[in-house]
Amino acid sequence: MPKYYGYAGRILRTNLTKNQTKVQHTEKRLITKFLGGRGFNSKRLYDEVTKDVDPLSPQNKLIFATGPLVGTAFPLGARFNVSAKSPLTGILGDSNAGGHFAAEMKFAGYDQLVIEGKSRKPVYIFIEDQEIQITDAEHLVGKDTYETTETIKNDLGDRTVQVATVGPAAENHVLYAGIFANLARPAARTGMGTVMASKNLKAVALKGTGVIEIADPRRSWKIVEEIEEETYAHPQYWPRRIMGTTRILMLADKLGFLPTRHFTSATFQHASKVSGERLAREYNVKNRACFSCIVPCSRVYVIREGEYAGLYGEGPEYEALSSFTARVGNSDLDLALKAVDLANRLGLDAITTAECIAWAMELYEKGELTRKEADGLELKWGNGEAILALIEKIALREGFGDLLANGVRRAAEKLGKGEEIAFHVKGLEIIQADPRGLKGYGLGYAVASRGADHLRSEPFVELSDDPEKGVEMFGVPEATLRLAHKGKGKLVRYFENWCAIIDCLEVCKNLAGNMELLPFNRAAEIAEAVTGFHFTEQAMFEIGERIVNLERAYLVREGIRRRDDCLPARFLKEPLPNGNSKGAIFEIEPMLDEYYAEREWNLRTGIPKAEKMRKIGLGYVVEDLKRNGVEIR
Ligand code: SF4
Repeated sequence: MPKYYGYAGRILRTNLTKNQTKVQHTEKRLITKFLGGRGFNSKRLYDEVTKDVDPLSPQNKLIFATGPLVGTAFPLGARFNVSAKSPLTGILGDSNAGGHFAAEMKFAGYDQLVIEGKSRKPVYIFIEDQEIQITDAEHLVGKDTYETTETIKNDLGDRTVQVATVGPAAENHVLYAGIFANLARPAARTGMGTVMASKNLKAVALKGTGVIEIADPRRSWKIVEEIEEETYAHPQYWPRRIMGTTRILMLADKLGFLPTRHFTSATFQHASKVSGERLAREYNVKNRACFSCIVPCSRVYVIREGEYAGLYGEGPEYEALSSFTARVGNSDLDLALKAVDLANRLGLDAITTAECIAWAMELYEKGELTRKEADGLELKWGNGEAILALIEKIALREGFGDLLANGVRRAAEKLGKGEEIAFHVKGLEIIQADPRGLKGYGLGYAVASRGADHLRSEPFVELSDDPEKGVEMFGVPEATLRLAHKGKGKLVRYFENWCAIIDCLEVCKNLAGNMELLPFNRAAEIAEAVTGFHFTEQAMFEIGERIVNLERAYLVREGIRRRDDCLPARFLKEPLPNGNSKGAIFEIEPMLDEYYAEREWNLRTGIPKAEKMRKIGLGYVVEDLKRNGVEIR
């Protein structure tokens, strides 16, 4: 089998219907065109999970992949992507997590795991180098993510085994259940856990003894040393180490884009009570890092007194913390930690869960949802008892929770009210940043290939509010001003391509992006040093371009058009009511025009142009779209 530097060299297919496994080699063409991780997954998803596939049927495929830097001494690469057609959105599903699972997968000898079919009974897969076991998991049914991880480690008699598992929410087919690796490292978005459970697969456990060989150790080490030096000298090193991403909560409040009480306010009067600063000061006891990372930004907290005394866990990050505080109007930090812990154990996506709860709370506060409809719960802002009860009800699909378990878009449709305040794009709930106060992020939500999400573009430079940076990078001063609309098409295209590369290398965006450690040119340099393939800055940009367009083609094949690249009406019609971005509103149409022009997509339909697709090596996709009745010219 040919083997390439930086790659494990093998792809494992497991068919759960037939109880069979098959090993293929990682092809050179796949590497040079799609690089790894998300690129590998999106390519396979386009080719093998077609338009007619029901996300919860055995025909859907669950695909894990890692990248070429994972399992090496490179200090930023510890992640994996997991992809499938999403049961929540019906389009491309994909999520990404850190920890140690990805490195172990490489050590076991695999770049990608493709899981097909459906087992007749609950199982888990245990991979130990070339030994693959599909093992009975009846005893794990109903166990939460922590209990499952512990039980598998105990069963195997090995604490070093890495486990990625689903919880009860996935088993109950909640449409936004995640896959949890290393206990608190969720690939939470778009319902990848739900797909896993639909295959009667409870967990994937890994143990590997291999090593990842690299092409040019001397050159790689030099880059690693440069990055380490820059990291330790960076002004964000200590804040990130002490608070992780929770430091954003106070910043978002100060700048006026902190979604509060379901986006009815952009600042939270209790922000300091639930801030990353307070968490670090009063709760955190130690730090943890992903594989080979030199910024141990993950924190272990302990609640020392009160109702939840004794509760401890890892995290939370900004999204989960902010979701269960400002978004639902809760000022009790203990309660928020309890809510995040509960959501993690049950295996839920914290962002989507909190949006569903906040949506119901807004309806209740406006008198449009009765207490009876909400199973007797008083859904007032910040009611902790109701928040915890709803998390459980959602995971168990019980009563009102059964409605919310379908995500906010379907919940509003089914209830016949609240559609205008269901905050999602293409069925994926919006994260914790109000797009009216961050225009580049907002455009990113509108066009992202998995629905409303920042991690597809993460245009962090607009937070600099530095017009000179805009001129330097895009020739447009407004491009890096967060409240300006102009130049955002260029900004988002650039950072979407960059995020695609980062997700292929499976690198942490906290460091690569926000600390600016891995721009395109350095990504090319390290990829070349590790793999031995020739990569330039331009080649990296083109790989990003290819992946974004392939994912767009997946959406187009599923029927997505320009009309779907939109934000909910509140952001387009209601100016921000308060805070430092007061009065800001979102104008989507001119931004879409600019973005489509940059991308060379049809301005009316949002379909990529055939000539463009051929130019970036996606000619076969043009033919496939035509066969599927898409008017692509
Ligand atoms: S910065 Fe944090 S999330 Fe990123 S790799 Fe390091 S420990 Fe993991």
